[in-house]
Amino acid sequence: MHAGGKYCGPRHCSFYIIAFLICQLFFLVIFIRNDDASSANELLSFMNESEESDHLDWRVFISHTPETSEDFYQYNIHLSNALGLIRKLPVTRHHSCTTRNSILPAPLEANVSVVISFHNEARSMLLRTIVSLLSRSPEDYLHELILVDDGSQRDVTLLDDLKRWMGGVFGSRYRLGLTFLRNQERMGLIWSRNRGASLASGRYVLFLDSHCEVNEGWLEPLLERLALNTNLAVSPLLDPIDPTTLSYRKGNELLKGGFDWSLHFHWLKRQLTNQESLEMPYQSPAFAGGVLMMSREWFLKLGSFNPYLKIWGGESIELAIKLWLCGGQIEIVPCSRIGHIFRRRHAFDFPPQSDRQLSPAQETYLHNSKIIAESWLDEYKNMFYALRPAARRIPLDHTYDELQRMRKERRCHPFEWYLRHVSPELRMHFDELSATGTLRNEDRCVHARQKDSQPILASCYLSDITQWSMLRQSGQLSTHRELCLAVGFGMRIALEPCGRNETVRRSQRWVRLGTHLLHAESHLCLDNPLKDRLEMSTCRSHAVSQSFQFALEMEGQT
Ligand code: UDP
Ligand code: MN
Repeated sequence: MHAGGKYCGPRHCSFYIIAFLICQLFFLVIFIRNDDASSANELLSFMNESEESDHLDWRVFISHTPETSEDFYQYNIHLSNALGLIRKLPVTRHHSCTTRNSILPAPLEANVSVVISFHNEARSMLLRTIVSLLSRSPEDYLHELILVDDGSQRDVTLLDDLKRWMGGVFGSRYRLGLTFLRNQERMGLIWSRNRGASLASGRYVLFLDSHCEVNEGWLEPLLERLALNTNLAVSPLLDPIDPTTLSYRKGNELLKGGFDWSLHFHWLKRQLTNQESLEMPYQSPAFAGGVLMMSREWFLKLGSFNPYLKIWGGESIELAIKLWLCGGQIEIVPCSRIGHIFRRRHAFDFPPQSDRQLSPAQETYLHNSKIIAESWLDEYKNMFYALRPAARRIPLDHTYDELQRMRKERRCHPFEWYLRHVSPELRMHFDELSATGTLRNEDRCVHARQKDSQPILASCYLSDITQWSMLRQSGQLSTHRELCLAVGFGMRIALEPCGRNETVRRSQRWVRLGTHLLHAESHLCLDNPLKDRLEMSTCRSHAVSQSFQFALEMEGQT
């Protein structure tokens, strides 16, 4: 065999043929990928052409953003304006997501209505949300976009300007349905999303916040999962966008959505089984934030977002509970990535409060949580009330007949089922406790102030009055800041970081004797001999000053 021979011997020839085929394949792949990206590129070049006409120039559109203070939007508005209409985003999903082919149903069976409700959103931010959506979604599957301006205050021409801009840029070219709605008065996110969904006509409805950027290939993995199960609801994995730098980071695939007994949202750890890899879709007790997609019909059958909930808060927890209990499931799909700005504070007001102990935001959230507890938690609602006693004072002005009918008709499980099958974390928290809530002696409650190392007795109606958790196993009495009630040198009562090792735990161990709290190591009882003082003293069985009641006791007192 000669290198560089003049003729093509059989081994030589096969080498050239294979090399030729590999080259062909390489060009074919490039061609197909370009073809994939072509709809986004076409869209962008079309928008550039449109900019020649002044009223369609997006720079002119965003120049009408009203002047506001830095924290009006709770993100960097100047940077947002400077970033432009669309930017390249890092690929944050696993590489296997990009290379595998999605198996999708026909577009007519899987088209999507996108509902975006916004209140006081910056023009550049809203536009980037919309343009990223339109340029990174397969055209055939995007059925319509429903935009609800929820009574935005400063920028009253925003919706009209947007209508003109979008009509000019997308109207003639896209089959996409565009609906623009405005609530004259602000109605809140929950009402507005329901309004949008009630007008939608796609097979699926997707709720999106108005400060998002969808990443390449976000829609296909969601559609693929939904095609397998009509009762499923899915969340993309949310990549955090920093509100100050607007940098786009990779979201964490090891987190699920959940909530605690106060009905506050929490991230929970996802445990990977041996057969599971990071990028596989996984079940979650609640949605990972407010971006979710499901069958529109199924959403309506479940009664939409509970319409009695006010303004903002708890709606996705309520939807998650009823989905799971009434025959649905929730999955987070890591191959689908959407960037979302997680703001540090609310960028909007809540209605004035009627309860002077609570802030307007607290009162609205508590009102909504109370509805969730009353609707779905059955006897476990006592746990919620123990931790949120102020919720008892909040009046609710509706009945639960309709909801009970729906629970019966759809044969929804009791809440116990959710603890058993969906959120072992929540159940474990329940099982771990022997008592919880405020700890009362006569008309005063034991309170751990942030600045003190010793607990005091204070009014039980303080809005931040300490909620204690008595742990069944260790006998520790802990605050939510993981400080434990301990007895130290000279019988001094103190708050210390809750100990994990046996020696520390010994000084933090309490035993419930009737309504007494006996310190296991010293054999002395917690006592309130003088008005606001706490002391350790010899246990006396009928002493009122040694009688302490938790808001909720889970086991009979010995
Ligand atoms: N929103 C609304 N009406 C309101 C409050 C909020 O339409 O009264 C919109 C808001 O503009 C955003 C979405 O609802 O698009 C979710 O609100 P936010 O982003 O503040 O909630 P978070 O993401 O912090 O849960
Ligand atoms: Mn948001």
